[in-house]
Amino acid sequence: MSDSAFSKVLAHQPAAWVNPYKLPVLSVEPLCDLIVPPQSIRDAEERLRRFAPFLEKVFPETVPSHGIIESELREIPAMQTGLKTSGRLFLKMDSHLPIAGSVKARGGIYEVLKHAEDLALSAGILRETDDYAVLTEQKDFFRRYTVQVGSTGNLGMSIGIMSAALGFRVKIHMSADAKQWKKDLLRARGAEVIEYTDDYSRAVAEGRKLSDADPMSYFVDDEKSMDLFLGYAVAAGRLKDQLEAKNLQIDENHPLIVYLPAGVGGAPGGISYGLRQIFGDHVHCFFAEPVECPSLLLGIATRKFGEVRVQDYGLSGKTEADGLACASPSDFVTRIMTPHLSGIFTVDDDSLYHYLRMLYHTEGIEIEPSSCAAFAGPAHLSDSPETIRYCAENGLTENVLKNAVQIVWATGGSMVPPDVRLQYLEAGKK
Ligand SMILES: *Cc1c(COP(=O)(O)O)cnc(C)c1O
Repeated sequence: MSDSAFSKVLAHQPAAWVNPYKLPVLSVEPLCDLIVPPQSIRDAEERLRRFAPFLEKVFPETVPSHGIIESELREIPAMQTGLKTSGRLFLKMDSHLPIAGSVKARGGIYEVLKHAEDLALSAGILRETDDYAVLTEQKDFFRRYTVQVGSTGNLGMSIGIMSAALGFRVKIHMSADAKQWKKDLLRARGAEVIEYTDDYSRAVAEGRKLSDADPMSYFVDDEKSMDLFLGYAVAAGRLKDQLEAKNLQIDENHPLIVYLPAGVGGAPGGISYGLRQIFGDHVHCFFAEPVECPSLLLGIATRKFGEVRVQDYGLSGKTEADGLACASPSDFVTRIMTPHLSGIFTVDDDSLYHYLRMLYHTEGIEIEPSSCAAFAGPAHLSDSPETIRYCAENGLTENVLKNAVQIVWATGGSMVPPDVRLQYLEAGKK
């Protein structure tokens, strides 16, 4: 264990923790019983393609991409100059994904579509070869069913918006960290929002219990769901195409380094898992978590996986990064990512607003505070003893880093209302 980083974590200080359990990709498979077959990721991709005509019809914003929910990969050279990082720095703008404006528009929407397809196929009102736009006529069918989810905000938004669009009844169980504007927006879309004064794990547990008691209800389980994971993993193949379209080659001398904000772990886990399937040891995936809520870090470092709660380590779990405020991580994701993850950066709330303002002033791009956590990665990759050693041991010499493609995964932001955006920009002022 990288002891000095781990003791910083316990001391509420920003840290760069390197995962001592990471393995070369080829040695993972024989050792690990937790494998997601590449075919399941391809199945998810095909399912999303079947739904494209439906999405194009219901959400006109997806017309330019022919019903495929995808985001831009944008180079951010001015931000890169500010961060003084090597190679070329890109922003993967899931902050601006159509329909739900966050990374949850991948996993969350995928799981709702999969559930709708399962119901429609078994009721005989749909065949896989149909044009799925026919589902726009089936609101009365879907209205008999309920979809429920526990959320700090963005997952609820993607599940709520897509479920309502199909005709499902929707109940969103929201933790105390959820922002008011997200609750307001969901209610405006017709979702029932149930508010909890407890943290995220509690909202999930209550939602799961209520949903399980109703045979017509389906629970999207952020702490356990394989479908969410698969929906996120589809991003990897899409990113490969985007890199190719920009003539960016990834190999031993041109590594890919990706930084993703992590809450319960599903989104960054699914995406990273998919990337490791494609790019193997040439991709290095780092997560970013709040100083007060590093639940994946604790779960992996202690090998207690989903059992940990940040409060048990003297941390509060409180953070302005609402999307990352998950006191316990997904058990499944911490286990499956243990041999694949390079490390985790922890970030304090002030830095979130510092990066938020910096991105706005250098590139004119606005994202939400949770999203900004990932900038700690390129900012600190080369200035802590642990990550310097990681680079040395993994062939990331200065010469190789010059050729690196570094990607900060922006996970949310485009749906933030103007008055709240203004508050965020002011909050960054010291
Ligand atoms: C949900 C979310 C994340 C992290 O996803 P998890 O699956 O919870 O790890 C990161 N950023 C934002 C903005 C989010 O909404």
